[in-house]
Amino acid sequence: MNKIDLLSLSYDEMEELTKELGEQKFRAKQIFKWVNEGVKSFEEMTNISKKMQSTLDERSFITNINIESKLVSKIDGTTKYLFSLGDGNYVEGVTMIYKHGITACISSQVGCAMGCTFCASATGGLVRNLRAGEMIDQILCMQKDQGNRVSNIVLMGSGEPLHNFQEVIKFLNIVNDKNGLNIGNRHITLSTCGLVREIKMLADYQIPINLAISLHAASDEVRKKTMPVANKYSIDQIIEACHYYLERNNRRITFEYALIKDVNDSVNHAKKLASLLSGLLCHVNLIPVNSIDEKDYIKSNNQDIKRFQKELKTNGIEATIRREMGADIDAACGQLRNRHIKNKD
Ligand code: SAH
Repeated sequence: MNKIDLLSLSYDEMEELTKELGEQKFRAKQIFKWVNEGVKSFEEMTNISKKMQSTLDERSFITNINIESKLVSKIDGTTKYLFSLGDGNYVEGVTMIYKHGITACISSQVGCAMGCTFCASATGGLVRNLRAGEMIDQILCMQKDQGNRVSNIVLMGSGEPLHNFQEVIKFLNIVNDKNGLNIGNRHITLSTCGLVREIKMLADYQIPINLAISLHAASDEVRKKTMPVANKYSIDQIIEACHYYLERNNRRITFEYALIKDVNDSVNHAKKLASLLSGLLCHVNLIPVNSIDEKDYIKSNNQDIKRFQKELKTNGIEATIRREMGADIDAACGQLRNRHIKNKD
């Protein structure tokens, strides 16, 4: 029999488990609290009987990921973590310190199947999905290391969250639970490369999180050059899914647009983007593309980025330029893992 990961259980599932074990309902609350506080052994659950501790030990385990290495920015304290998972795989996470607290960027998969050509996480393809508990544990590790509470989460590490749909939904449920990390949905952002079917599925759950769409192009032709997912879904289909989403969740959508020199950064591209997004409750986040070891994309120069932003604004679309954090530890998403794997070989 496969052992159950206690950190991947929602509160309701924990209640079902305790019922199945013939225990009273309040035990679920105790165990749920322990694991979501970061306790890693049953002996530490001091309000649980020895007998129950040993039953739990037979039937279940508690996800335990570790910080393999980290890089800390001397400029602003941004920290990049390389986490080792129980099975020898690695994922990355980042913490950024803002006035309102710590924002944690976490991974949802080991590697990624989406194959975006500018992204370091995609280079080795998808290895496996993370369990909800492995996403929770990234946050627990970061909180412990930082000695402070994480207040905001962005699902922008390695992986495509909507490609690991059920575990991500479960993660959102657990992380929001008042007996657990208790992080408000409005403080959580899920970023997707635009899986249309899953955006609609997510919309139907009506969870008031923030949705970010990695668009990175204003035409299918340009998008196909960097994002293979564009062969499956057109930009029109994505926009239609966004309207569907907004009908169910009246929360402004963010469009991410990584500016790559001479690929997608002209005034015409900006005009086209503005016309695509007109009438949508949204804003655009402009990101100077990070060059990665595997590809030699060049970021647009500051002047062109400002010109792009101005063009969007002139056409009624709000746009911000992403502030660079941790410039001295600059390693684009997925690079820490790639370099670590290479060095081990
Ligand atoms: N799969 C999800 C989330 C992970 S990536 C998605 O596609 O949205 C988080 C964001 O970083 C995405 O917008 C992604 O396109 C962007 N990104 C990846 N590599 C990048 C790079 N080299 N430079 C700038 N942004 C990058």
